[in-house]
Amino acid sequence: MKKLFGTNGIRGITNKELAPELALGMGRAIGTYFKEGSRILIGRDIRAGGDMLARALTSGLLSAGIDVCYAGILPTPVLQYSIRSNKYDGGVMVTASHNPPEFNGIKVIDADGVETNSANEEKIEEYYLSGNFRAVDWKRLDRDVMEVPRLTGPYVDSVLKHVDAEKIRERRFKVLIDGGNSVGSITSKAIASSLGCEIHEINTDLDPLFPGRTPEPTPASLAKTAESAKRLGVDITVAHDGDADRAIFIDSEGRVQLGDKSGALLAYWAVIRNGKSDKKVVTPFSSSDLVEEFLKLHGISTERTRIGSIFVSRTLMSGGGIAGFEDNGGFIYPRHQCVRDGAMAFAFMLDFLASQGKSSAELFDMLPRYFVEKIKIPMDGINTENIFGAITAKYGDTCRVIDTDHDGLKMAGNGFWFIVRKSGTEPVLRISVEAKEKAVLDDTLENLKKLV
Ligand code: MG
Repeated sequence: MKKLFGTNGIRGITNKELAPELALGMGRAIGTYFKEGSRILIGRDIRAGGDMLARALTSGLLSAGIDVCYAGILPTPVLQYSIRSNKYDGGVMVTASHNPPEFNGIKVIDADGVETNSANEEKIEEYYLSGNFRAVDWKRLDRDVMEVPRLTGPYVDSVLKHVDAEKIRERRFKVLIDGGNSVGSITSKAIASSLGCEIHEINTDLDPLFPGRTPEPTPASLAKTAESAKRLGVDITVAHDGDADRAIFIDSEGRVQLGDKSGALLAYWAVIRNGKSDKKVVTPFSSSDLVEEFLKLHGISTERTRIGSIFVSRTLMSGGGIAGFEDNGGFIYPRHQCVRDGAMAFAFMLDFLASQGKSSAELFDMLPRYFVEKIKIPMDGINTENIFGAITAKYGDTCRVIDTDHDGLKMAGNGFWFIVRKSGTEPVLRISVEAKEKAVLDDTLENLKKLV
């Protein structure tokens, strides 16, 4: 049973839960997990404490006889792409993704560029907790860390291979890029510039204190960005999370669109643009019912997975599928790489727009309409077992259980569904409700809040 790792690496408050000692110990544990002499690529996002943690991790890795290469500040998808394309044995990303600014985190990546699985994280934890580290002889410590800057260029080239750059350039799109003060603007600006867009920017200064907004792109945190989008009259806006594996879009009417909506459109486009050679897409249980409803109209099938991007990635890798996505804005295009990629999502959205001759608002209006509300409640003192018990007692007779794991519960009734789930990445309980009618949504959300 894992204690340190959540659904996406280790997360904690910087210099408190996640202090240099933990990073050093994790470096030694991760170094022991990889074979002696492995080449490991380390990177980090802009977060405060990133340098401190990366150096402590590096020290631990070196002690275990790892060849450490340092990529510096970059988006997670660039690190993942570079690990696979440059044949590293693995990597470590220092990031807390979308968590609030005071958090940081550590994520272990396998040689295929995908986050390592739960079983491997357990092994790493065992090394950490037992202190059973490989400490190499002093003579094996004769090599320094190698700096490997400029990984963004080859990554951007790969993204551009998957879109019709000529067609996009002809349209001279007006775009707004919201980098959330972290690394997302690096790649999205490079891509927009290569694709001949007129670029407008918000929160694109790299700033470890995140003065612009919280690192999680949500309708609430993007209110100001949406206003700017409307005022500027841009064709499309992209907003990234702290490490840029997510992309949330704001359409030409200034409406913030959730990731399952953009995901459904991009997945549809992936099927069409590839001549319908593969008509399966993958998304977790947390995505809207609009996904199946819309994709089915076009003969596309949807496979559902457990919540967590790694389950989407691994399902795509083992069972195929043209695209995968999450409601939080994670989009996976396996032909580029089999992990979430915010810049790939952005380029692909421009490709879709260029091919359709419609505004982005019109494209989003092609989707069936559902009412959705997602809230989070601080977790302190919440007992999920009691909560799930109370919910099942209230809804057990009228609803069926769609999915349940030890972290969450999804139930569906007549014209609505909900998920109540302990977050795997931050200390909150997440409640999502979707309904065909607004009154049903309000009523269900009110009931669930009372039960919690
Ligand atoms: Mg992220």
